Amino acid sequence: MMLNRNLRRLLSTSAAREAMEYDVVVVGAGPAGLSSAIKLKQLEQAQGREVSVCVVEKGSEVGAHVLSGNVFNPRAIKELFPDFLERGALGEEPTEAAHDEFRLLTNDKSAISVPNVFIPPPMHNEGNYIISLSQLTRWLGEQAEELGVEIYPGFSADEVLIEEGRVRGVATKDMGISKKGEIKDSFERGMELRGKYTIFSEGCRGSCSERVMDEFNLRDAAQDQQSYGLGLKEVWEIPEENHKPGYIQHTAGWPLDSNTYGGSFLYHMKPNLVLLGYVVGLDYQNPYLSPYQEFQRLKLHPDIKKHLEGGECISYGARTLNEGGYQAIPKLTFPGGLLAGCSAGFLNVAAIKGSHTAIKSGIEAGEALYAALEKEGDEEVAEPTEYQDRMQKSWVWDELYKTRNFAAGFKYGLYGGTLIAGVTSIVTRGAEPFTLTKHAKGHRDCDATKPKKDCQPIDYPKPDGVLTFDLLTNLQRSGTYHDDDQEAHLRVKEDKKEYPEKLSLEIYDGPEQRFCPAKVYEYVDDKLVINAQNCLHCKACSIKTPDQYINWTVPEGGGGPNYNNM
Ligand SMILES: Cc1cc2nc3c(=O)[nH]c(=O)nc-3n(C[C@H](O)[C@H](O)[C@H](O)COP(=O)(O)OP(=O)(O)OC[C@H]3O[C@@H](n4cnc5c(N)ncnc54)[C@H](O)[C@@H]3O)c2cc1C
Ligand code: SF4
Repeated sequence: MMLNRNLRRLLSTSAAREAMEYDVVVVGAGPAGLSSAIKLKQLEQAQGREVSVCVVEKGSEVGAHVLSGNVFNPRAIKELFPDFLERGALGEEPTEAAHDEFRLLTNDKSAISVPNVFIPPPMHNEGNYIISLSQLTRWLGEQAEELGVEIYPGFSADEVLIEEGRVRGVATKDMGISKKGEIKDSFERGMELRGKYTIFSEGCRGSCSERVMDEFNLRDAAQDQQSYGLGLKEVWEIPEENHKPGYIQHTAGWPLDSNTYGGSFLYHMKPNLVLLGYVVGLDYQNPYLSPYQEFQRLKLHPDIKKHLEGGECISYGARTLNEGGYQAIPKLTFPGGLLAGCSAGFLNVAAIKGSHTAIKSGIEAGEALYAALEKEGDEEVAEPTEYQDRMQKSWVWDELYKTRNFAAGFKYGLYGGTLIAGVTSIVTRGAEPFTLTKHAKGHRDCDATKPKKDCQPIDYPKPDGVLTFDLLTNLQRSGTYHDDDQEAHLRVKEDKKEYPEKLSLEIYDGPEQRFCPAKVYEYVDDKLVINAQNCLHCKACSIKTPDQYINWTVPEGGGGPNYNNM
């Protein structure tokens, strides 16, 4: 019986896949991927060479997996659509940034308000907008489809097709394999999406992008190791009389200790929403720290609480973001393709903004690939290196270079970091003759975790159900759903099978139980249990589990969170 099942699986999964051919295959319908597809089609219209473009997206619909703050710098979208406001990109009544506040929370009750002249210029928001990036992404998806881009939401790119040293596209995940690895009646073989060029725009820590970076040693070009933060976010509806459209507040300090990098954001978006979030650097040391519980605790501070009073939390979610900045940018191209947006790490950490750089990199990717297709007619240029040149000459490079020492300085703690950030962004403005290293090569965020014997457990307050919530209640607000009976997508690496119990639990008291913002990991009778159906696709476990013992692979398409206003 088992032999038959195995044989059935072998025959089913080794059957040839159907293939579709395109000029360009884009992996991930986020701001970067969609902007690249739009640019290609705009060039087709302007210059006449037909370009076939498809975009594959693992969310149930475009935007469903996009989570961001978001204070939006419109510089790049203006380049893509000069009339973006008139076209309704930011909704019928966009929220213009009106007032910036920066507060240093000194304890659970007090704060120092930092005068405007001391707020680093990258954090000034004149001319920016407060938006929902998942909504803007949906709008970009509509524009792309109108221009003739084929978008396939609900399909996860699972395998990178590499033939004779060149990327030839991706294959989507086989659907209909049970938890036990058996073929179900609903089985459908994945599809090959083959392209002359492939753009990897999966956002931070994309699974195919990581594979490509390993295959072509792209990270060798970076000065530093990439580092990450975990961002948690809630959207609140508040009474109109308390709402201040355009108000922007950032905080640092409490509840984190001064050696842990992180801070909060709070934005008032029309008509009556407060977008509240907390980012914790994943290089934190105490394995007992829970980013989720720190976030809940933050809301008890009077400077946060007053914005939420009388309101209701309507959404919750989490996502990692790159914090390595300029020093951690890998080589951007390889034979057959390129990396765009946060897959490449273009987030400006000082400004906490990556949407504008993602869109700009998409534009440059589109330009470079159109030129490559034109140059050789139907022949393929081996590696689209023009993209690297274009990015290095673009304002993205300049912006990231100027802010390169901002986050890196925080390795000296909150006060040392604030001083360096202040001097390099207000006085020298990037012209300082040195470049700091945040994480030297080979030093990953997970290597910063200290053994449990050197740390104290943290006593977090119980949720009150009004302002603070237990995690599983909040998780329902993310709309997360996965078919429970599917192949495991969170896999303990083959050579690390012993690590959960022998390393993570024994030495670090299982930090994944606390950092996962969806309570996916728990130890029952000292054995690891993975509740994969809760996964928010934030990717933190692929970064912070001890020695990175988890391999995050894509689940079946269409599962995961269902963000609407994130
Ligand atoms: C908490 C937080 C706050 C932020 N605040 C701001 C802010 O205020 N302003 C700002 O400008 N930026 C902000 N950012 C950064 C911003 O969100 C990112 O820079 C931006 O989303 C990057 O766009 P992207 O297209 O590269 O990736 P993403 O937006 O992550 O999109 C990637 C897409 O690819 C899809 N995908 C991934 N892998 C696959 C696969 N294998 N198969 C199919 N589909 C796949 C995903 O589902 C997703 O839809 C914030 C980020 C976070 C996490
Ligand atoms: S399992 Fe991993 S990717 Fe999923 S929510 Fe938890 S930490 Fe994030």
